[in-house]
Amino acid sequence: MNENESPEDRAFRAEVRDWLESNLAGEFAHARGLGGPGREHEAHEERLAWERHMAAAGWTCVGWPKEHGGRGASLRQQVIFHEEYALADAPARVNHIGENLLGPTIIAFGTEEQKARFLPPIVAVEELWCQGYSEPDAGSDLANVQTRAELRDGAWVVNGQKVWTSLALEADWCFVVCRTEPGSSRHKGLSYLLVPMKADGVDIRPIVQLTGTSEFNEVFFDGARTDAANIVGAPGDGWKIAMATLGFERGVATLGQQVGFRREFEGVLDLARRTGAIDDPLLRDRLVRSHMGLEIMRLNAVRTMAGVAAGAPGPESSISKLVWGTWHRELGELAMEVLGAAGLVADGEPYDLNDWQRLFLFSRSDTIYAGSNEIQRNIIAERVLGLPREARG
Ligand SMILES: Cc1cc2nc3c(=O)[nH]c(=O)nc-3n(C[C@H](O)[C@H](O)[C@H](O)COP(=O)(O)OP(=O)(O)OC[C@H]3O[C@@H](n4cnc5c(N)ncnc54)[C@H](O)[C@@H]3O)c2cc1C
Repeated sequence: MNENESPEDRAFRAEVRDWLESNLAGEFAHARGLGGPGREHEAHEERLAWERHMAAAGWTCVGWPKEHGGRGASLRQQVIFHEEYALADAPARVNHIGENLLGPTIIAFGTEEQKARFLPPIVAVEELWCQGYSEPDAGSDLANVQTRAELRDGAWVVNGQKVWTSLALEADWCFVVCRTEPGSSRHKGLSYLLVPMKADGVDIRPIVQLTGTSEFNEVFFDGARTDAANIVGAPGDGWKIAMATLGFERGVATLGQQVGFRREFEGVLDLARRTGAIDDPLLRDRLVRSHMGLEIMRLNAVRTMAGVAAGAPGPESSISKLVWGTWHRELGELAMEVLGAAGLVADGEPYDLNDWQRLFLFSRSDTIYAGSNEIQRNIIAERVLGLPREARG
């Protein structure tokens, strides 16, 4: 996305590129490409070391205000940063949940004490975070959260179960949406608590995914305690704060992912040339459509960026989520078609998948997490198009 780039932005791009080029070398040379889709468990310690190396040079939390340890980078520069990061094939980030979700939430809604306590360890990558929203009966219907917490002797005592909690095993803290008003229902009576993960009363059980890895987990809270001060907003504000975090989740970082998508698409194209699938008229058609999809996403990203610059991302961000999630899932399917029968066989024992198989299996989840396709369509229907609300039982 170089068109119309100002001299400052061009200089910023060069600075990021140079730093990545000279630092993804030596002890970090082998870190390139680590931890991509379907390989989230790969080399956690090395990726952690890399991210701390970035922190020491001031390259974490680039979009945060300077007073909170960021670089105060403009929106465009944040996108540039993510683009260059993907172009350099730098390792998948280990604390993206702290940097992109919890940090901005604390900056917007936290107390001064919370900012001082929680932001510096995110910038320095000393504390990792996970997101405790979903429960067995509260996924799309998040307002049905049943995990509860009560104040006892200066601490919140948390009981309940979360599920699909990404990176819970590695995380030091979790932001937990739970019910703090007994007898309340739906959006009312919820609170947003910050709960330590490596404490008594927290039991984490990894879930083996289609990819064979265990990026997400079940988390059981059984009398887990967190200080009474570790609540963002007031008791009962949980829904409002949780929605604000979701807005950040669909923010700038996802705009930079296009470069990664382009690399994957080019990989599938190259594969099609090598396997001869490029001569199949039906597959050629799908490759062209996939390429067009990339271009549409690129243009939409520019438009979304303009929208974000004008304020918080609105319901229109659901269009981006729907488009990129579906596009990526279809790319995985296309990769399998291009591989043909070879795609059905693992490379080795016991479950040694190649990159294309991993892409296919992992991208099934792109249309589920951060709001499923059906939920995005509901949001677009009701809040963008103004159609009548769906019937709810
Ligand atoms: C890779 C991955 C990582 C995740 N990481 C986290 C995490 O870190 N923290 C966390 O809290 N959660 C996480 N999740 C959970 C994710 O947020 C939920 O899976 C998602 O919200 C869907 O909820 P569910 O799985 O309970 O499915 P359900 O809500 O039960 O949905 C089942 C199906 O019904 C459809 N459906 C549901 N309601 C409607 C409706 N009103 N109209 C039309 N169709 C509907 C859905 O679209 C879906 O197809 C993760 C999920 C994945 C796949």
